[in-house]
Amino acid sequence: MRSERISWNVLTKEKPTDIGELQGVGEKSLRLFAELGLVTAKDLLDYFPFRYDDLREPTPTAQLLNAAEHERGEVNALGSVVAVHERRARGYEIVEVRARDESGEFIAKWIGRHRYVIGRFREGMRLFVRGRLERSLGGPVISVSQHRVLGADEQYRGEMVPVYRATADLPSRKIASVVKKNLALLLSSLGDDVLPAPLARERGYGALRDAYRAVHAPATPEEASAARERFVFSEFLVLASAAHLRRAQREGEHDAASLAVPSSLLAELESSLAFILTSAQRRAIEQIWRDMSRDVPMNRLLQGDVGSGKTLVAAAAVLLAARNGYQAALMAPTEILAAQHRDKLLPLLTELRIPLEFISGSQKQSERQRAVERLGSGEAALAIGTHALLTESVEFKRLGLAIIDEQHRFGVAHRAKLRAKGSSPHTLHMTATPIPRTLAQSLYADLDQSELDELPPGRTPVQTFAVRLSRIERVYDFIRAGVARGGQAYVVAPLIEEGESGAASVLAELEHLRDVFADLRLGLVHGRLAPREKEEVMKAFAGGDIDVLVATTVIEVGVDIPNASLMIVLDAQRYGLAQLHQLRGRVGRGAAQSYCVLVYPDDQDEAKRLAVLTQTNDGFEIAEADLAMRGSGELTGTRQSGENGLRLGDLARDFAMYRQARAAAETLLRDDPVLQSPGNAGLHAALEATPSLRELMSSS
Ligand code: ADP
Ligand code: MG
Repeated sequence: MRSERISWNVLTKEKPTDIGELQGVGEKSLRLFAELGLVTAKDLLDYFPFRYDDLREPTPTAQLLNAAEHERGEVNALGSVVAVHERRARGYEIVEVRARDESGEFIAKWIGRHRYVIGRFREGMRLFVRGRLERSLGGPVISVSQHRVLGADEQYRGEMVPVYRATADLPSRKIASVVKKNLALLLSSLGDDVLPAPLARERGYGALRDAYRAVHAPATPEEASAARERFVFSEFLVLASAAHLRRAQREGEHDAASLAVPSSLLAELESSLAFILTSAQRRAIEQIWRDMSRDVPMNRLLQGDVGSGKTLVAAAAVLLAARNGYQAALMAPTEILAAQHRDKLLPLLTELRIPLEFISGSQKQSERQRAVERLGSGEAALAIGTHALLTESVEFKRLGLAIIDEQHRFGVAHRAKLRAKGSSPHTLHMTATPIPRTLAQSLYADLDQSELDELPPGRTPVQTFAVRLSRIERVYDFIRAGVARGGQAYVVAPLIEEGESGAASVLAELEHLRDVFADLRLGLVHGRLAPREKEEVMKAFAGGDIDVLVATTVIEVGVDIPNASLMIVLDAQRYGLAQLHQLRGRVGRGAAQSYCVLVYPDDQDEAKRLAVLTQTNDGFEIAEADLAMRGSGELTGTRQSGENGLRLGDLARDFAMYRQARAAAETLLRDDPVLQSPGNAGLHAALEATPSLRELMSSS
């Protein structure tokens, strides 16, 4: 992410100040800073603290115990040492200092690794401490995280201390001291303000320089958070402007194939199906066909829970392209999924006389050759495949439609590469991870949205239980009973091999289950198997030759085996709700009642979080809950937040501010569509530094 950013200094062609030129940075720390991606002074200036320790005021001892809950439960206290106790217990050094101020006494306590405090304190010394407050019958006890010994007449002076994301060898303390020593120099490396001056004024923001100073060296918490808001708003302004520009650019391209929709097309599709379309499917198909009938390239996101029938909607888009003499490409993130699309679509497309070819990394050279030829000649109307579709040798005669399944699993570059195989093809993105509306309107603002918010009829909802690990024997009994009824089970573990974390691994679990289920047929699938091996195992499971499949999340998305009716997830605490919901979607695809069991360690407080899953099967509702609990960065994955350059803002928490930024972006771009006026130079430069917009901005 960092390497993709152009620093301001490059843009203005000045030589950037390197971190090595700063006071307090030697050879060794230079390297350590670089490990954090910090190379120039501007990098450091943009490296914001994630919190502050407020050391300004000691709390009078008498008020410590009823002090309002402090941030992170830490308090400050100042007193004269009355007594010092040093002892050893179970190999730990323990130092306890009793100290008092005018209002009472407190105990400051160091345990274990604080060897350097031994022998340091004496009666009568004045001592400032900060640490977690523990309540005890004897009065306030502070488990010290930092302290300072004061001279006899020294006036205590404390600051807001910024805490930076750090490494073991480059602690926050060191970063803070370098920032503090060099603040004036750092502040001279600011670039243009992303916020146009009138907008900053309108929002009551002070100068950019002051905001940076307030972030790194705030006088008060309020000052820090006001400054942070300025930067979050700036970030959102860039994000919203980028979406607006991308959309405007696309809307301005009138070079897509405008496809004719025959009035009989829907009837033709429906007559080839063994079932009736859900009304959500029909609505999505209409939206997609309408988009494809325009000469503006479609850019639409089709969201729907697992099993909601997205593949069929994709087929409808393929049908329209084919009837107009255009080819389509459907790209899936894994071989298993691509093959499944092929197998599912083959009967339908054969009936509709749409010839398809399959492209994957593991296919034989001769097969590949044949597929490539038929796509190049235009004989084949559809290519289904993995990343292998992106290889240079795969060419289309007339690609009019690109479909990207599980679009979040591909980067911007891959998606662009697929589209580049045609000339301005229509694009359909699909995802089975429903995206909360707030994110859809912000992160995906340049995509139109279709939702399949309805499952085909006749499905029995999966019943879900959250179970503590100590009851795992019951879960095994449950699996045994399910298999006895003719069902099959998945047992999912987070790791392949046992690791330091102590989390469950598929290899260890398989060993264990061989004892537990000596009479059952077990299988194993994980990401380190070759694609062909994986596929063989999945085939055996699909064919009923395996009773219990031990797996990592490689089986996560889209795999459809109707006879599998049990999903056991070990270490469920390690997954987000949306991902658990995805895993659950692997079962409940057949007629039998299916169950999902989420197993979590006894010592973890997971019951409340997992209850979201035991109570609802609605992917959108789960996504909203996940977003609220984890924040947007987590939910979208670092890759996506990196793509969008968001460092500070959280689209879930700060969505109201995003809306304001979007409105501001619209006004700005209405008056200055390519941001040419000098007052918008900062915003222009920031957009130019956004990878997907670089070309657009520099050609303007
Ligand atoms: P998704 O890709 O959204 O997870 P699929 O397209 O794989 O869902 O559909 C899941 C299953 O439902 C498939 O077996 C498909 O044939 C079936 N299906 C799709 N649409 C309908 C419908 N309208 N009525 C009944 N079954 C359907
Ligand atoms: Mg699917």
